[in-house]
This record gives sequence, structure tokens and C-alpha cells, in this order.
Amino acid sequence: MTDLNIRDITYCKNVGAKRADILRHELHAETAMDLLRHYPFRYTDRSRMYHIADIADEDTAVQIRGRLLEWHTIGVGKGQRLSAQFSDGYHVVELVWFRGISYLKLDKNREYLLFGKPSRFNHTWNFVHPELTPWEKVTKEMTEGLEPEYPTTERMKQSGLNSRAFRAITAALMPDLKQGVQDTLGGDVLKRYHLMNLTDALLNVHFPPDTRHMQAARERLKFEELFYIQLDLLRQMKRREQKAGYPMPKVGHRFHTFYREYLPFPLTNAQKRVIREIHADMQSGKQMNRLLQGDVGSGKTLVALMCALLAADNGYQTCIMAPTEILAQQHYETLRQLLRAGTADEEGTLWDSGKPPLMRIALLTGSTTKKRREELHRHLEDGAIDLLIGTHALLEDNVQFANLGLCIVDEQHRFGVAQRAKLWNKNIRAPHVLVMTATPIPRTLAMTVYGDLRISIIDELPPGRKPVHTLHYTITRRASINRFIREQVDKGRQIYVVYPLIKENEKLDLRDLQNGYNELIETFPEYRISMVHGQMRPADKDEQMRRFQAGETQILVATTVIEVGVNVPNASVMIIENAERFGLSQLHQLRGRVGRGAEQSYCILLTNLEISSETRKRMEVMVATNDGFKIAEMDLQLRGPGDMKGTLQSGQAFDLHIANLSTDGQILERARQAAEEVLCNDPLLESDWNRLYKRRLDVLRFAGQTPVNWEEIS
Ligand code: ADP
Ligand code: MG
Repeated sequence: MTDLNIRDITYCKNVGAKRADILRHELHAETAMDLLRHYPFRYTDRSRMYHIADIADEDTAVQIRGRLLEWHTIGVGKGQRLSAQFSDGYHVVELVWFRGISYLKLDKNREYLLFGKPSRFNHTWNFVHPELTPWEKVTKEMTEGLEPEYPTTERMKQSGLNSRAFRAITAALMPDLKQGVQDTLGGDVLKRYHLMNLTDALLNVHFPPDTRHMQAARERLKFEELFYIQLDLLRQMKRREQKAGYPMPKVGHRFHTFYREYLPFPLTNAQKRVIREIHADMQSGKQMNRLLQGDVGSGKTLVALMCALLAADNGYQTCIMAPTEILAQQHYETLRQLLRAGTADEEGTLWDSGKPPLMRIALLTGSTTKKRREELHRHLEDGAIDLLIGTHALLEDNVQFANLGLCIVDEQHRFGVAQRAKLWNKNIRAPHVLVMTATPIPRTLAMTVYGDLRISIIDELPPGRKPVHTLHYTITRRASINRFIREQVDKGRQIYVVYPLIKENEKLDLRDLQNGYNELIETFPEYRISMVHGQMRPADKDEQMRRFQAGETQILVATTVIEVGVNVPNASVMIIENAERFGLSQLHQLRGRVGRGAEQSYCILLTNLEISSETRKRMEVMVATNDGFKIAEMDLQLRGPGDMKGTLQSGQAFDLHIANLSTDGQILERARQAAEEVLCNDPLLESDWNRLYKRRLDVLRFAGQTPVNWEEIS
């Protein structure tokens, strides 16, 4: 017997050269073990015998004992099919075959076991290409235990590699598997966490005798999958933490002066706590890698500024990177006001020297002019700029700092990990990194996607915030919404109207936006209305935003460019058009644009009359709660973790094959704990007793099944 770990799939029973090619291509399967690692996604209970009258839905495969009444072929050539009537003695169903008709040997005098998935057709149940086994040939295995169903791709199906064929392949591997395979978890871990060994887990995940065995097998495999991801992330974290970081022990003049004389309001306790956590990292002598999570409006910008002041007190520069031009601009304005530093106007000097600024700050974006850019570059290199705020433009190679000590990445889910890495390559020694995100992430996701970062959470909003009142309306209520708009504007408030943007068809989206804009102009001729969208020239966009921010316009019609970070405290109404086209976290982000002033704020979700039940759920969640973490949990539950990559776009390159982050939180916690224990006295897996883990990790990383650390690569 060859080791299943090295046996080429070509030489596995029921595979062969042609199928091997497909399996290599579709499942990246090279060895018999890879096939065994292709887990079933569902099981059919074969111990249950159905009557035709019991068939309830189209999703569950059923098996029925009965006889064929009659059959006939219909049509000729390619369109030919065979239709047969099958009865359990009480009712009749239709069986249909389109292919392989000449191979079928049907017999009226025999009893059969019918197995397949029913579909509803012309008020009767109908089975396409069912399995039909003469009753005397039915084996014990066929009618007991749980039968696995395997995920297959379109290409696999086209070559006959359907679930049934795959079952035959795995079944043929079982005798060899029973001889035992080398485990991928150590005996101590298996024992401490009460896990099945690998051999049993693989046997039972494919052909479990009952649900209990199936669950124990799946739990072990989920644990293993999550364990290795955690092991990898934690090892990366520990490796980084062994690297020297810029020591910033001082709390100096700038921080103290700001705290005592500039701060417009007392910090919340949560803000104080996270500043302490961050500062502890900054003075540790190790490089900081921290994620700052906080709901929209929780005051992350201020935290960022105070960290920059700490860096400046220690003689280091800071950069803050924002995902959009509007946001960078706004951060710049906000921070300048907070610092009461001089201006950095387009033409003149970098900053006004009238009053000694606490920090000298500058803005660098894609639309910064060449002349000014050169000036900025010079002052970054001679250290005259303490804090640089910008967009992706910061990543360009010719942006060099004198002594960059702290990188703050705002709303980082818009940035790839690779881009993050580019930032720290600007120095010989990596600067401290603080990643800020306003997308609350469920704990399980955070532990997986940001598992290599320490996490700080601002779980408290500044005092005096009134929760945003959220309503769900259908478009049939437009008249009353218009009345509401008028009422609010007459009270002096401002209003956002947001349209979804779907990348595939920007023209159509813009038409929606333009129509909405025109309608508003018609309905409210007395108001001034701004419009912002991604296709505008940056200068026009800025001008429109500026007018709204300054209160010169009452309504801002926009696509989701305003989603992140825009701050206009006087805006108290957020109307979201086609709300069905937004995900929960996006809706929550948008809602976060209002509720920033003293007035009661409203968020109106507008949808069509006809919406799916999933959409209805989403709207209900939005109406029921303002808590970003709750919404994030619901989002994960509703959409399932399959979509998580879309939400996070973090660039972490790994997939989960069996674990499910929305349901396996407990397994994840235990797997992380186990990984911590393994690394406890051997953070880099260098010792003999951890050789098993180091080797396995190397294999998984090579196969792209654990996160890739871009720092190490770039
Ligand atoms: P976010 O976390 O979404 O980035 P911001 O930093 O934009 O939030 O802060 C939202 C608003 O709350 C800003 O207007 C800011 O000035 C204000 N703010 C921040 N911290 C406090 C505080 N401790 N007390 C009162 N208001 C605060
Ligand atoms: Mg913010």
C-alpha cells in the first residue's frame, strides 16, 4: 500500500487519467489524501425508507422500495428520453432518463430500490436519472448510515464526476484508509481537546454510521482547519513582536498641551483605554500591529491624532492613510481644526507661522499639484512635516520620510494587505501600525482575518448621542417622505439621499442618481441641492461636498462615495434609495453619517414593494438596532461566511473548507487556545517536539491554505 499522502490520484480506483486532470484543475487535488480532504457538504439518511406520500421537498434525496409499472421512449436522437412509471403500491412517480437509455435493463417482474432527488413536475413527483437497484442486489451499506454528498463544479459534472461518482472514488479509498494515516495533530492536543484521530475522522466524515460519529468527525476536522490558521497567524504575530520597533516612551509637551488646552471635550473612557493600550505598544520597544475597532462615530479620529502627538513627542513622523480623497481631505480639515495649526494653502507656505502649531500637518492626494508635491516631498524628507494625511498617493515610491514612526490606516478594509506592507517598507525598521476600522467585525471573523493583530475596541459612543431613528418604507410612500424632507429642512436640518452603485453598470446607476436629483429639484425648487458621485472630477466633487458641509445646500444626493467617514453634524436625515441593494454593514455605515449632532436623526430605508424575505430581515435588523457589533453578527449569519471575503477584502488568501465562522465560534476559540499553547514556549516552532506542526504549516502555506504574510514576500 502506498501512503495515501503521496499516492497520485491517477492511480486511485474510479479515477483514471482524464478525471485526474479535471480533479487537479478543479479541486487542486494531487494525492489520494487530497481527495479524502474534499469533504461532503451534506448527508442523506439512507436508513430511512420513504413512501411516495412522504415526499415533502425537492432538497432531500429519498429512497423508495417499489416496482416499475410501464415505460416508453419519447422522441428520437438527441432529444430522446425514457419515461417510466414507478409505484410503491400506493402512489406513482415518474422516472426520466435522457442519457444512457440503451444501457437500462428494466424489468416489470422485479422489485427495486429507487434512490434520488425528487422534483415537482405537473403536480407529480418526478426523478431525473435516479439510481435504480434490483432489490436482491441492495447491500447493507446502501440502506444504513449517512450517505455523503460532495460539492462538485460545473466542469466536474460535465465529465460525469457528480456526487455519486465522487462517492465511488472515496469509498474505494476506505480500505487503505482503515490501515491508518499519520495524524496532523499531536496526541496531547487530541487528548486535551477530546478530538477524534485523523484516520477515524476521515473514515467518519465520508461514511458515518450515524449522526454522532459524523459530528465528532466534522468537529475534529474543523478544529484542525482553524487550528492551523491560528497557529500561522499567531506565529506571524510573535515573529513580528520579536522585531525591534521604534521606542516611544515619552509623553511630552505636545500630547500634554493638547490634552490640557486643545481638547474640545473630555475623552470617553473607551477612548482613554485604547490610547493607553496603543501607547503601551508604542513604548514597548517592539513594533506595534494593532487593530482599532469602533463603531461609526465612536471617535477614532481623535484617538489617531493623540497617537500622532505621542509619536511627535518622541521625534517621529506619522502618516494617516484614508481610502478616499474626500475622507483624506476631511481628516485633514478636522485635525487641523483640532490642532489649531496653521493652514497649508495651495499656493503659499506650508503652514502659517502665526501661532506655533502643535504639529505641522500636510495633505497629499492624487490631486495634489506637481509643484506642491515637490515641496511636500522635500519637507517630509527634512522632517519639517510631523503628520502627513493622504490617500493611496502616500504609497508612491518617491514619498520618503525622514523618520516615519507610526502608520495609521483608516477604514482599512478598503486596502489590501499588500498595500499595507508597502507602507512599512518605507523604513528600514517597520513603523508602528495602527489599523482603524469602522466596520465592526464579529469576534470569530476578527480572530481569523485579523488574527495576527492585537485588537483594541472602542465600545462606547460619546455622551449625548441620540440613537438614529430608523424606518423602512416602500417607494409607494414617496409623498409622505417628501413632506418629511420639507419639514426637516424647514427646521434647518440637512439631508442625505444615497443611491446604490453597482460597478458593472455605472451608466445605469448614474442615470438613477441623475433622475433622483432632477425629481428633487422639481419637488423642492426652493432648495439648493448638491450632487456627488465617483465619476466627477475631484475638484467638482470637493466643491459640492464643501457646499453641503458649509450649509449652502440643504440636500446632498450621492452614491456611496459618502459611505465612509463624512462628517456633517447638521445633517439629520439619511434616505437610502433601493436599500435592498445594500448589505447590512453598508447600510449601517451609511446610517452612521447622521446622528452626529444634537438633534434627533432619522434614517429612512426605501425599498420596492416586492422584496425577498432575506431583504426584509435586513431591514428589520436595521430598524431594530443601532449596535454595529450586533449588526455585524447578523450580517454574518444572514449572508454566511462565504461572503466574508467580499466584505473584508483584506487580502488574506485562505479559504475555509469545513469550518464555518458563523456557527463554529466555540471550536475557533478552542483551536486558538490550542495554538497559543503550542507556541507558548516555542513561538517560532523551532523545537523538535513541534516539528509536526512546523512541517504541516509549511505544506499548508505552500498550498495557499493559510494566510500569506505579504511582509515576508515583498
Ligand atoms: P469615527 O470613529 O466614526 O471615525 P469620529 O472620529 O469621526 O468617529 O468622531 C465622530 C464625532 O464625535 C466627531 O464629531 C468628533 O468630534 C466627536 N467626538 C469624538 N470624541 C468625542 C468625545 N469624547 N466626546 C464628544 N464628542 C466626541
Ligand atoms: Mg472615521
